[in-house]
Amino acid sequence: MDVKNNILETIGNTPLVKLNKITKDLPCDVYAKVEYFNPGNSIKDRMAVKMVEVAEAEGKLKPGGTIIECTSGNTGMGLAMAAVVKGYKCIFSTTDKQSQSKVDILRALGAEVIVCPTNVEPEDPRSYYSVAARLQREIPNSFLMNQYDNLANRQAHYESTGPEIWKQTEGKITHLVVTAGTGGTVTGTAQYLKEMNPNIQIWAIDVYGSLLTKYFRTGELDMNEVHPYVSEGFGEDFVPQNYDMSVIDHFEQVTDKDGAVMTRRLAKEEALFCGYSAGSCIQGLMQLKDKLKKGDVVVAILHDHGSRYVNKVYNDQWMAERGFFDVKSFKDVVNARG
Ligand code: PMP
Repeated sequence: MDVKNNILETIGNTPLVKLNKITKDLPCDVYAKVEYFNPGNSIKDRMAVKMVEVAEAEGKLKPGGTIIECTSGNTGMGLAMAAVVKGYKCIFSTTDKQSQSKVDILRALGAEVIVCPTNVEPEDPRSYYSVAARLQREIPNSFLMNQYDNLANRQAHYESTGPEIWKQTEGKITHLVVTAGTGGTVTGTAQYLKEMNPNIQIWAIDVYGSLLTKYFRTGELDMNEVHPYVSEGFGEDFVPQNYDMSVIDHFEQVTDKDGAVMTRRLAKEEALFCGYSAGSCIQGLMQLKDKLKKGDVVVAILHDHGSRYVNKVYNDQWMAERGFFDVKSFKDVVNARG
């Protein structure tokens, strides 16, 4: 029988889908690695299961133990699925900036979710980092996954995302475009691809309000770069250990508005109903279009599914309230819907 032994075995081997409209004026083809085909609807399933497997192998997670993590939802989804299948408890700390639906989904998978304030320093005892660290200290046989500094994160992409893209493009890929948060996706995938062909250009996409781009360009950790943004899942106010900046060729920043507008275009024009960072990724690519030439083969990673953003980027009022529609009155929103 052609069956899977459990849902975790369906992770990976996601399709590469050509973009036909948004990128039609570019001199080359662009293929989207559509990661919402993973069972948890995001690329983070890959690294979540890898982090659990490595923790088990290193004896940090023992039968009946508790998985703890700070997560904006997608990593939590993967960890919660792994916990159900492998028999662990799960507790997540997250921020009040995240969609309520993301929290509800994690709870549906049996996880406990603690919602913490966004606008406090990481050192503040109320921050989601501090809460997760305290839980690990207090709960016996628990392990804080720490997707930021746990190198099993990028290893997952070195072992699966990178080889898949290489094989699917028959080694013809010339450019990889990826939104960057923990750095796991861009670094792990790039490490593999650069080993196969060091000429492949790796473009990391960041958001205004994150310090990653300035750090990449100057080596400076400039907190003046940091301000709140509404884009979700990428950009950071520190540099996680998963980064190896030497495999990245360029960092590009995208505004909240441009990312949101492009996310809606992906659904309308390509039938790709993706999360906010997917639009930011394609927007970043479009900002760099003058660097592309005929014959290039571009792969853009689209991290997650649009269902978690229906009350945000796919909601007209949410868009209008933030000035993301170029209109003077709400009446014109109908015309501006993109
Ligand atoms: N987009 C979304 C929706 C995400 O959940 C993440 C993970 N935080 C990213 C982009 C960035 O991926 P990474 O953390 O591997 O850099």
